Amino acid sequence: MHDESASVFTGSFTQQEPIPDAAIEAAVAVMRHGRLHRYNLEPGEAGETALLEQEFAAFTGARYCLAVASGGYALSCALRALGVGPGDRVLTNAFTLAPVPGAIASLGAEPVLVEVTRALVIDLDDLERRIAESGARVLLLSHMRGHICDMDALMALCNRAGVQVIEDCAHTMGASWRATPSGRHGVIGCYSTQTYKHLNSGEGGLLICDSPEVMARAIVLSGSYMLYARHRAAPPPEVFEKVKYDTPNMSGRMDNLRAAILRVQLRALPDQCAAWNARYRAMEKGLRGRPGLELIERPAGESFVGSSIQFRLAACSSDQIRAFIARCAARGVELKWFGNSEPVAFTSRYDSWRYFETPPMPQTREALAGLLDMRLPLTFSLDDCALISGIIAAEAAAVERVAAQAPGRAGKGPPDAG
Ligand SMILES: *Cc1c(COP(=O)(O)O)cnc(C)c1O
Repeated sequence: MHDESASVFTGSFTQQEPIPDAAIEAAVAVMRHGRLHRYNLEPGEAGETALLEQEFAAFTGARYCLAVASGGYALSCALRALGVGPGDRVLTNAFTLAPVPGAIASLGAEPVLVEVTRALVIDLDDLERRIAESGARVLLLSHMRGHICDMDALMALCNRAGVQVIEDCAHTMGASWRATPSGRHGVIGCYSTQTYKHLNSGEGGLLICDSPEVMARAIVLSGSYMLYARHRAAPPPEVFEKVKYDTPNMSGRMDNLRAAILRVQLRALPDQCAAWNARYRAMEKGLRGRPGLELIERPAGESFVGSSIQFRLAACSSDQIRAFIARCAARGVELKWFGNSEPVAFTSRYDSWRYFETPPMPQTREALAGLLDMRLPLTFSLDDCALISGIIAAEAAAVERVAAQAPGRAGKGPPDAG
């Protein structure tokens, strides 16, 4: 057992694993021949990007796949491929990352935020209400921090209402709901291969889809020119004949260098997911049942990838949470707070996105008030997870003790309005 009151963690919360040697060799091979542009191919050559698309389509079971410049690009490309345009309203859950409403805004469309539950997933009752109120015909569903809602209920609701679903799977690559991979429930699934996600090419995105016409539009949008026949996870050329004159080129391709390192990493993804989950379970074990802490329980239908963990501090005045974060930081444990009224680093709350109108979201506000978030990079060992969870548990207990001694000032009152 670690001494929970004194130990300090000295590792880095932002250090990912190095790129595997085989991936480095694949990248060097691309640099040696110099054909980095995806359409710069020798006769008979497929190219790394087209092969990555084929392999990711096979990995997810999708008919078609397109590799693009970023996860955010994949989202805006998906919206455009479904015909969303300026002034259209697009539903999305209020607990997500800034590039999600940003992708909607990039089209001149307007985000309509939907409340989330304390389990951190979209609230289906609120979704139904907001579909009726807004008249929106597209939901950009973000599986934020890997939490997947009841996808059967969600798809039944959206199908009934005539709402098309795009899944933002930036945190659910390799995850599934009742054995159907995340990204395969809606019309389009979008993924990010940015450094902090489940595959690392620095920047990059993937988009999967079964609809020939939607995918043909996405490919032309991504900047295929009339070279779409060089794709290998794409619909046949006659489908492009229907869309090629009225689909703009909004350049956002992936290149062969990034695709080369992703192909090698994709082969190891199932093992990586298992490694994340072992760390997640070790953290959960260290935090469960500890005073002042509340875990987010995972539903049985969800098979998740534990690349991050969320928990709540029960005594949650903003001052207490700030004190807790500072005490953890002093012992080397870096936590993010989604309830913070000010956006910090990568983390922002829905009410910081003031370029569109949002009514009060009391339920989401409450769900995020005491919510803390921690990355679990694979550079952490299981022992690191035991040490970190011990530090968090000890500091949560300390904050609870202080709160109990000053009942007038703190305690379990409502989160402050700030
Ligand atoms: C990272 C992320 C994105 C955007 O991906 P980029 O590749 O960084 O553009 C979208 N949604 C969520 C939930 C993310 O975490």
